[in-house]
Amino acid sequence: MRILIIEDDFAIVDAIQQALRKAGYAVDRVHNGIDGEFMGDEEPYDLVILDLGLPQRAGLEVLKNWRDRGNKVPVLVLTARDAWHERVDGLKAGADDYLGKPFHIEELLARVNALVRRAHGEATPGFEVAGVSLDEERQLATTSSGEEHPLTGTEYRLLRYFMSHPGVILSKNRLTEHVYEGDADRDSNVIEVYVKRLRNKLGKSLFETRRGQGYVFRGEAK
Ligand code: CA
Repeated sequence: MRILIIEDDFAIVDAIQQALRKAGYAVDRVHNGIDGEFMGDEEPYDLVILDLGLPQRAGLEVLKNWRDRGNKVPVLVLTARDAWHERVDGLKAGADDYLGKPFHIEELLARVNALVRRAHGEATPGFEVAGVSLDEERQLATTSSGEEHPLTGTEYRLLRYFMSHPGVILSKNRLTEHVYEGDADRDSNVIEVYVKRLRNKLGKSLFETRRGQGYVFRGEAK
């Protein structure tokens, strides 16, 4: 899962980025409204964290512009302390949730996880798809035999993306876009290596190769 943070307060961005990366998300960051709006249109993010008080273009305007153009990316807005009208304005403009500053990073993480799950039609914490369950806290996968498999950061992000889209053909390009951050080396051949690793850990049959198209994670979401 890939998340964009648009916020001009570097201390806040650093804290959010660090916490989200630790939680297994790929995270991009920009610091003004114009770049933010562009990035949100250009890249297929799974979630955007949007500050409303931004230089160059206000966060509210960025959000309105996206929604006017049909960009439905889930958006969590950050609002100023005690500014209840900002929350109302944000929700009216199409935000999916809001968080007032200052906030605890744990609360932000909980809301981010909930929004991402909601966007993928998951109601309960944690994933279980096709006999594989994913432990978000410990970043490990458990197979139907009960065997636990610790995952590296990239393996975890890749598997979570697969499990969020069971039965869907996912091209290497799409997987690359959702698993890596903007400045990372986006060689889609690397995806092959990671899929191979996941197959070795979890079972070959879970990841079906569709020649010339990509991969399918087999199984239906519960
Ligand atoms: Ca700000």
